[in-house]
Amino acid sequence: MCECELQRGASRRTFLGAVALSLPALLVARRPTKTSAPQVVEPVEVSPGLTIYPREAWAGKLRARRPLQAEPDVKFLLVHHSAGTTMYSRAQVPSVIRNIFLFHTGTRKAWPDTCYNFFVDRYGQAWEGRTGSLAGPVMADATGGSQGFAQLICLLGDFDKTEPTPEMIEGLARLLGWLGVKYNIELDQKKAVTFVSRGSNKWKKGARVKARPISGHRDMSQTACPGKNVYPLLARTVPKKAADFKNLIA
Ligand SMILES: [Zn+2]
Repeated sequence: MCECELQRGASRRTFLGAVALSLPALLVARRPTKTSAPQVVEPVEVSPGLTIYPREAWAGKLRARRPLQAEPDVKFLLVHHSAGTTMYSRAQVPSVIRNIFLFHTGTRKAWPDTCYNFFVDRYGQAWEGRTGSLAGPVMADATGGSQGFAQLICLLGDFDKTEPTPEMIEGLARLLGWLGVKYNIELDQKKAVTFVSRGSNKWKKGARVKARPISGHRDMSQTACPGKNVYPLLARTVPKKAADFKNLIA
C-alpha cells in the first residue's frame, strides 16, 4: 500500500476535472455468486501471453464502496509497490490483495475501492484491482493525491527491502505492454507525455507535468514508492520488455 501511505494526514483525493461516468454494466457483470464455498475464478486471457485474474478472484463479495469514475484521458502508466509482505504463497495472493482493499476503503484512506487498477505478484501473475479496470479505463487514487491521466499497477511486495523476482518483472512488462496497446500509449521513454496536473503533493493542481510513458509513483508524488530496487528498472529494462511485448501483440 505504498510505504508513502504510512504518512499521516493524507487526505482523500478529489477528482478535479474528471468526467463522471458510471460503470453499471461492469458492476453487474462482476456480481459474485451466493455460495458459501470458495469461488474458483479463472484468469482471463486478454492477449496471447497474458492472462489477468478478474477482480472477483480476490474480492469475492467485497464490492466498491461507492461508484467509480472513468479516467477520461490515459496518457501514461504508473508503477507502485505495496510496501507490504514479499514472501507470500500463490494461495495467499487473494488475501494479500483483500487486506490492501480493506486498508484503502477503511477510515484512514476512505477510498471507494483499492486505489490501483492492477496488481502483479511475485509469481508474475496479473490481477485486476479497482472495479472495472479490465474493461477500463477507471480513475485511480493515490497517496499524496493523484495528478491523474494514468492507470496504476502495484507490485505486491516491499522493493526497498527485497528484489523483485524475474517473473514479477516479466509479468509487469507484459501488463504494461498490453495497457500500451489498449490505451494507445507509445512506450518510448524518450518521448515524454505532458498534461496539466489535477493535484498531487508534488505537482499541484494546474501544474504542467512532463512524464515518461512508464513512470514510478515517486515521479508524481513525494514518496519513495515503488522502492529503490524497482525504480531504476523503470528507466530501461521494464520499458524495453514492455515495448517488445506490445509490438508482439499489437
Ligand atoms: Zn505508490
